[in-house]
Amino acid sequence: MALTPYPASDFPEIPTAIVTGAASERGIGRATANRLARDGWAVAVLDLDEAASAAVAEEITREHGTPALGLGVDIADEQAVVDAVARIDAELPQLVGVVNNAGISSPTPFTEVSTEEWKRLFDVNVHGTFFVTREAVKVFRRHSLGRIVNVSSASAERGGGVYGRAAYSGSKAALLGMAKTWARELGEYGITANSVAPGSIDTDIMGGRLSDERKEFLLQELPVGRVGTVEDVAGGIAYLLGRDGGYLTGVTLDINGGSHIH
Ligand code: NAD
Repeated sequence: MALTPYPASDFPEIPTAIVTGAASERGIGRATANRLARDGWAVAVLDLDEAASAAVAEEITREHGTPALGLGVDIADEQAVVDAVARIDAELPQLVGVVNNAGISSPTPFTEVSTEEWKRLFDVNVHGTFFVTREAVKVFRRHSLGRIVNVSSASAERGGGVYGRAAYSGSKAALLGMAKTWARELGEYGITANSVAPGSIDTDIMGGRLSDERKEFLLQELPVGRVGTVEDVAGGIAYLLGRDGGYLTGVTLDINGGSHIH
């Protein structure tokens, strides 16, 4: 019996990507939004603060000349996500990609973590990702084309990070399982789903900039001899999302400088 490939559409001239959590100044999301815009994507920025999201969108259009929209959305708020994706679908070019980057971390040890904190981590990192992806997939299916990238963490693979503990690692491990399942379930609609699992990257998520002392410590476990940058992660995401990434699905890209090799 001849194998019939699923009908995947060609990339449109200007594809649109949603990048969640792209407003923080030194974050992975903002670097990813800029990298995608440089590659010719239109970008929708979803972050908590409306004004900060709009400012990033303006910066993207100014610097890269591509359409961009910045919206203030708590991704854990289901209705807000439904409304935001509907607006993106109506106002930007064809939606092709979603980068589930928005996330919160917690250094609280397992024996001390409160129910409230545990639930908030899962509300944002897991349920928020579910809401955004579900709405995006509805649009992807209309066009038989879609790319999903979950931003997980090395913490999910190695049992805690240098900062995050069980609530964070558990929520980030859920993202790996979700992406792999989407890869299997959604392939027939021309949709791929992958994850990136960054090691320690110099951003503000760990409650402040990485101190030089901390970097020295991290370097001991890094074969590449330097701490990761937001551009390192953005490059990996752009590859999985882009035209050349179409034959990768269910993959986890370990962007960690070799700190965790398995
Ligand atoms: P960051 O704190 O700079 O970025 C996180 C962004 O998510 C912020 O802009 C924040 O406002 C936004 N956000 C938080 N809750 C939200 C919500 N409910 N709705 C919408 N937006 C929300 O940190 P970062 O390091 O750039 O983190 C980006 C992602 O990378 C996170 O998912 C994080 O877990 C992951 N990650 C980071 C590292 C690292 O070392 N920095 C390592 C592995 C994975």
